[in-house]
Formats: sequence, structure tokens, C-alpha cells
Amino acid sequence: MSTTSHIKCPNCGVFNTNKTHCESCGFLISHQEKETARAKTVQEEELVSAVEKIEKVNFIKKLKRHPFFLVRFFGWILNSVWIVLNIIGAFIAWFVAMVAAG
Ligand SMILES: [Zn+2]
Repeated sequence: MSTTSHIKCPNCGVFNTNKTHCESCGFLISHQEKETARAKTVQEEELVSAVEKIEKVNFIKKLKRHPFFLVRFFGWILNSVWIVLNIIGAFIAWFVAMVAAG
């Protein structure tokens, strides 16, 4: 015979034999099942936060790969503006350095 587990439902008090959910009220009573469900939830939360981080970093890249051309176009504009800002910043840094060197 296989091992039987008698678990008292914490919700309604009914004893259940070899059940993961209470026969009477459907409450999850299996400790193993609870652990599995909890681990799965934690894993999913971690995955979502990791994906969110990546998406923030790759926001412009994502826009550029968007199926809708206007959004892709907007992504290219953002990308160009970002490059131009970097060039202007570099130019100002160079200019200030030149003026300071006088
Ligand atoms: Zn119950």
C-alpha cells in the first residue's frame, strides 16, 4: 500500500485523505502544492521585474523594432536626438576645454 496522508483542512476542519484540495470547500491543503505554487509565484515576479528592467534599457531599440512603422520612425528620431545630444555635449566639452586652454 502507498502512504496515505490525512490532512485537516485549516479552512473548514474536514479531514481529507490523499487530497491536494479540501473535499468540502476546495481549500488548498497540500503543503507540497502550496510550496510549488509559492515558488512559481516568486519565480514569475522575478521574471517580470527582470523583463521590465531590460525593457527600460532597450526602450529605443524596442521602438525601432516595432511592427508599426510610425512607432519605428519615432524610435529612430529618439535615437537620432540622443546621438545629436551626445555630439553637442562632446562639442561643448571640447569647446570649454579649448576656451580654458585659451
Ligand atoms: Zn475545507
